[in-house]
Amino acid sequence: MSERFETHDHDVLVIGAGGAGLRAAIEALAQGASVGVVSKSLLGKAHTVMAEGGIAAAMANVDSADGWKPHFRDTMRGGKFLNNWRMAQLHAQEAPERVLELEQWGALFDRTQDGRILQRAFGGHTFRRLCHVGDRTGLEMIRTLQDRGVHMGFDVYMECTIVQLLTDGKRCIGAIGYWRETGRFVVFKAKSVVMATGGIGKAWPITSNSWEYTGDGMALAYEAGAELMDMEFVQFHPTGMVWPPGVQGILVTEAVRGEGGILRNKNGERFMERYDPKRMELSTRDVVARSIYTEVKEGRGTEHGGAYLDISHKPAEYVKKKLPSMYHQFKELADVDITKQPMEVGPTCHYVMGGIRVEAETAQSTLPGLFAAGEAAAGLHGANRLGGNSLSDLLVFGRRAGLAAAKHAQEVSAPRIDPAQIDEAEAEALQPFKHQGGESPFAVHRDLQKTMQSLVGIFRVRDDVQKALAELEKYKERLANTSVEGSRMFNPGWHMAIDMKSMLTVSETVARSALVREESRGAHSRIDFPELSAEWGKKNNIIWRDGDAMGLRQDRLSELPAELQQVLAEDK
Ligand SMILES: Cc1cc2nc3c(=O)[nH]c(=O)nc-3n(C[C@H](O)[C@H](O)[C@H](O)COP(=O)(O)OP(=O)(O)OC[C@H]3O[C@@H](n4cnc5c(N)ncnc54)[C@H](O)[C@@H]3O)c2cc1C
Repeated sequence: MSERFETHDHDVLVIGAGGAGLRAAIEALAQGASVGVVSKSLLGKAHTVMAEGGIAAAMANVDSADGWKPHFRDTMRGGKFLNNWRMAQLHAQEAPERVLELEQWGALFDRTQDGRILQRAFGGHTFRRLCHVGDRTGLEMIRTLQDRGVHMGFDVYMECTIVQLLTDGKRCIGAIGYWRETGRFVVFKAKSVVMATGGIGKAWPITSNSWEYTGDGMALAYEAGAELMDMEFVQFHPTGMVWPPGVQGILVTEAVRGEGGILRNKNGERFMERYDPKRMELSTRDVVARSIYTEVKEGRGTEHGGAYLDISHKPAEYVKKKLPSMYHQFKELADVDITKQPMEVGPTCHYVMGGIRVEAETAQSTLPGLFAAGEAAAGLHGANRLGGNSLSDLLVFGRRAGLAAAKHAQEVSAPRIDPAQIDEAEAEALQPFKHQGGESPFAVHRDLQKTMQSLVGIFRVRDDVQKALAELEKYKERLANTSVEGSRMFNPGWHMAIDMKSMLTVSETVARSALVREESRGAHSRIDFPELSAEWGKKNNIIWRDGDAMGLRQDRLSELPAELQQVLAEDK
């Protein structure tokens, strides 16, 4: 095997170089582990770099009444109490320390008058809680973590796509991938693997997500035997660009509303008064997205099928300082000056709350040796994520995953890889080159996106989801018969064929979970079951690979301890 394939050996292999992966790698290095970080894109280009509004952490720099308890309460309420309560507690308690650490490592946050980290308001957060760097917080986070990690000495394998996890039947022992440039395969042996591959938004056509978001981590973990949880909860962010068509879906950060942006319909009505008069524009994302969707459906939408979001009542200099990316984004892509004109916005597929099922303290999945953090993991956000809670999630659980992965690596023996597994993975990945004259994987992708948008989108109904599941079966057959032209070098058609396998798997997990959850909760809206169900409020949907079939069962949530019930009962 070592002769046929380039092979690397690490204590801890981190798949993904976003905030979660980099934070995990730093922690594993700090424990003395040898660490490799694999990334589908270039280092510094992971999706986290796009994060805009900020990191939620109850530092109480602006609102002194804030603390971990209100943050915990907001997170649980936002998640409609389906959250893993222990994750929500650890997240709220540890986020401030993680942000301070980031500052010590060189992150330059916006400041209060007296020099502390400035915090802004965001939807669903009772207090001003988002630590930010204008509207470019993700860039600063990635820059800081990357500098730190590179100086501490992790090995980076970039533009390398992992196509399969390796197991010895009991635990995860590495992964196989290919270099996107040459198409050559590469094997990673590892005592522990951390999955930090982000989300699944590319299965929908209107999305804020980048090309990397094809659900690889969840699909790879599922195939290797780990459980997934609550995949029905896909967040549609209320404000994506709707015009011109080429930029549809690009995010308009919630920071616009956090800084005082107002939503209006074509009649000039501030329609959030109808849907959430108390919180208005700062309501949670699920509520605002459904409100815009309803306004458009009932004929009160804008010219291009959205709503107006207006920040032009604020001084122009202030807007340019606090929202520089938004100012440039609209000026350059839509010829709109947001200091003078409103933006046209509408819902866009943004985030998945479901993912790899993990244990709260260690971020270990149900497959020993496999850990998961960030958007690839499930639990913290329940049925709906609050803005800002992802970046803090990456820091808190990225660190925990790295720590536990390094510890696990000290406890287990060196992995012994079965060469047959590698051969199989290679043969499967090369399958699209075997066919001649089949259809293009891009055509299957386009149709998958249409199906997910129209049948498993923002509002769902039984017949539609069943229809989607039937179509997914056809797409699987079509994918098996696709063919790609040319060689393995820089071959986008081949990359798409590989990504499609993940997208079909995660789309099926979303549809299956959405079909059985007969209620509307958080980001999951069933037209045929519009109310919350007390019974479903006690259950997580669990999915696993059951031979060639997809197993689905419900596990009951664990009971909240009395002291946390007390925290939830308190009003503020
Ligand atoms: C426009 C935008 C703005 C946002 N703003 C905010 C915000 O202000 N605050 C907030 O809290 N959240 C925000 N979010 C959400 C947040 O940015 C993401 O949830 C978060 O960055 C995900 O980080 P991650 O580390 O889990 O994954 P990512 O940063 O996406 O990293 C995933 C990594 O995995 C790699 N990868 C994927 N598949 C493979 C594979 N098969 N093989 C090898 N490598 C692979 C990728 O190359 C990448 O390096 C925003 C999201 C968007 C889209």
